Amino acid sequence: MTETAITVHQTARPHGFPTPGHFAFAESAVPEPRPGTALVENLYWSVDPYHREMMDGDFALNAPLEGRALGRVVESRDPAFREGEILFHRQGWRTHSVVTPEEARKVPHFDGVPLSAHLSILGGTGLTAYVGLTRIAQLRAGQDVFVSAAGGGVGTATGRLARLMGAGRLVGSAGRAAKAAYLTEHVGYDEVFDYHAGPTAELLAKAAPDGIDLYMDNVGGEHLEAAISSLREFGRIVRIGTISQYNSTGTPYALRNLPDIVEKSLRMEGFLVSNYRDVQEELYEFVVPHLQSGSVTLDETLVDGFGGIVDGFLGMLRGENQGKIIVRATGAGI
Ligand code: NAP
Repeated sequence: MTETAITVHQTARPHGFPTPGHFAFAESAVPEPRPGTALVENLYWSVDPYHREMMDGDFALNAPLEGRALGRVVESRDPAFREGEILFHRQGWRTHSVVTPEEARKVPHFDGVPLSAHLSILGGTGLTAYVGLTRIAQLRAGQDVFVSAAGGGVGTATGRLARLMGAGRLVGSAGRAAKAAYLTEHVGYDEVFDYHAGPTAELLAKAAPDGIDLYMDNVGGEHLEAAISSLREFGRIVRIGTISQYNSTGTPYALRNLPDIVEKSLRMEGFLVSNYRDVQEELYEFVVPHLQSGSVTLDETLVDGFGGIVDGFLGMLRGENQGKIIVRATGAGI
């Protein structure tokens, strides 16, 4: 184990897009676990769009940030933890964390499944897609689905899961042509458009000329307006996130076709995955056999080394990730 611990702090509130200057890496001695806690050396970190929202006020300045992480117990002072065990906890953005049994849970081992999957399709990202499709959308076989930010963590998981659940035509949007090609070649999308290529409503109408039954909305704004126009009668909108607005400094996008929601009897519902932790085991049962057989593969962008965590986070906001972005400790080895 290293002698020094490193934590990432936010040092200033961004106006618009954050930069590396809004963060600092702080060194300290490796913390000592108190009785009733364990010291964890972190191996994998998740950086997420919600961190950008928290930068506006929820994250304290000049204090260690929080985030989802996987780490190995290196010293235990509680019978609930054994040295060597792998834990999931929320004290990320730091090389070492001290956790109580209430703050951490053991990560199950599944033969042949890489540990990083617990931050991508088996973690909160995959659970968001699974809950969105099963609990909120109540997807039925044959229904045609549109997914925005399709090339990201939630978007790739949504594509994989919707395909397994028997969705009909699967259309996505993404910010780069290379992502679009990956999604149709590997993830199961039928057609993906680059939303920079023109007005989203026109691009969606071209990609789904017969309309859609369901919209999985990771983006909001112009994408949501386009989806409302393309939805068929009794269609559903699952509001997952609003990434088009997290860095915006202007007035929020005003939807111009709200009357369509009434006229087409559409249903729109949002959710937070944190309210669906009880679905975690069901997700494992559904997805793990597919990971083990190879019928589902991981969609991940791995950033090597804790020192890359800020750049990885900023790159994700710019759309540089393909699948779930995960930062991996140098030499994580598992
Ligand atoms: P992600 O999709 O892996 O990464 C974010 C992606 O958003 C980027 O790669 C980028 O891809 C796209 N993007 C950035 N700016 C955009 C813009 N202005 N317009 C359209 N797309 C833009 O992130 P994720 O973790 O999977 O999260 C996706 C969404 O789900 C986010 O809105 C997040 O807040 C939400 N979420 C919600 C819950 C919940 O509980 N409801 C849980 C997890 C995530 P492009 O190349 O396509 O631009």
